[in-house]
Amino acid sequence: MTDVVTTSTSAGAGGAASLGTGVRIDSLSKAFRVGRRSVPALADATLWTDKGSFLSLLGPSGCGKSTILRILAGLEEPTSGTALVEGRTPLQLRRDHELGIAFQDSALLPWRSVLSNVRLPFEVSGRRADDGLVTEMIKLVGLEGFEKAKPAQLSGGMRQRVSIARALVVRPSVLLLDEPFGALDDMTRQRLNVELLRIWTEKPATTLMVTHGISEAIFLSDRVAVMSARPGRVQEVIEVDLPRPRTPDLMRTPEFHALHDRASELLFDGAAAAPGED
Ligand code: ADP
Ligand code: MG
Repeated sequence: MTDVVTTSTSAGAGGAASLGTGVRIDSLSKAFRVGRRSVPALADATLWTDKGSFLSLLGPSGCGKSTILRILAGLEEPTSGTALVEGRTPLQLRRDHELGIAFQDSALLPWRSVLSNVRLPFEVSGRRADDGLVTEMIKLVGLEGFEKAKPAQLSGGMRQRVSIARALVVRPSVLLLDEPFGALDDMTRQRLNVELLRIWTEKPATTLMVTHGISEAIFLSDRVAVMSARPGRVQEVIEVDLPRPRTPDLMRTPEFHALHDRASELLFDGAAAAPGED
């Protein structure tokens, strides 16, 4: 089954059908100061993707996955190395309002309703709010009937779904998702995966998603990058050469299982390198 698993050691190769550069991370390192110590979180991480492609990042806890996303979102400065998305620096990207972010801790504005939180990206970018689209997104994440609710009246999983709707509503050209489905039950997660794939297929955004779900990563992605334990680096990039459009029955094919096995194997090897990491 190895014929369906083509891998490259450092970066996703562009390929003949390349649509231009998506994410380009070169020798990215980040060390955090903790008291008087310098704690390396990322070491020499290198990763390239094509514009409009979907890449998932898998790796043991604490290997720097969120740090990569935070650097790309302009929320953190790298210690060394460079990070560009579609040829733009993280700050330019934010200025251009081309970024959709759903992070685990992405704060919803507590005084605003669900509807008004999802509408926010239009206001921030000075665009006319498309309330049809706002309502559609709320429906899509299964929160119909909760439009007027405030974040404090929702469960953690529901708040997470609001931030997914908010990230997708303006159809940004770049999407950064940090374990967006982490707090959701399996059924909801599966449904949102299918919906996310549908939305993404309509207008493919350059997407980087951090997840712990191997199946989810393979189901959604063009490539899956597996990181090694802290200080994190990109261990291997698995090319997910499965045809699109994809439906959940794909997950029962031998090709899918072969990719799943390869990712598990790499994850297990990478995690084993750092006993004691949480
Ligand atoms: P992951 O998302 O892969 O679980 P993170 O990117 O959140 O990992 O963190 C990588 C490492 O950097 C961890 O060891 C974490 O404790 C450390 N770290 C992250 N943010 C900070 C911070 N602001 N200050 C100090 N250490 C941090
Ligand atoms: Mg994280």
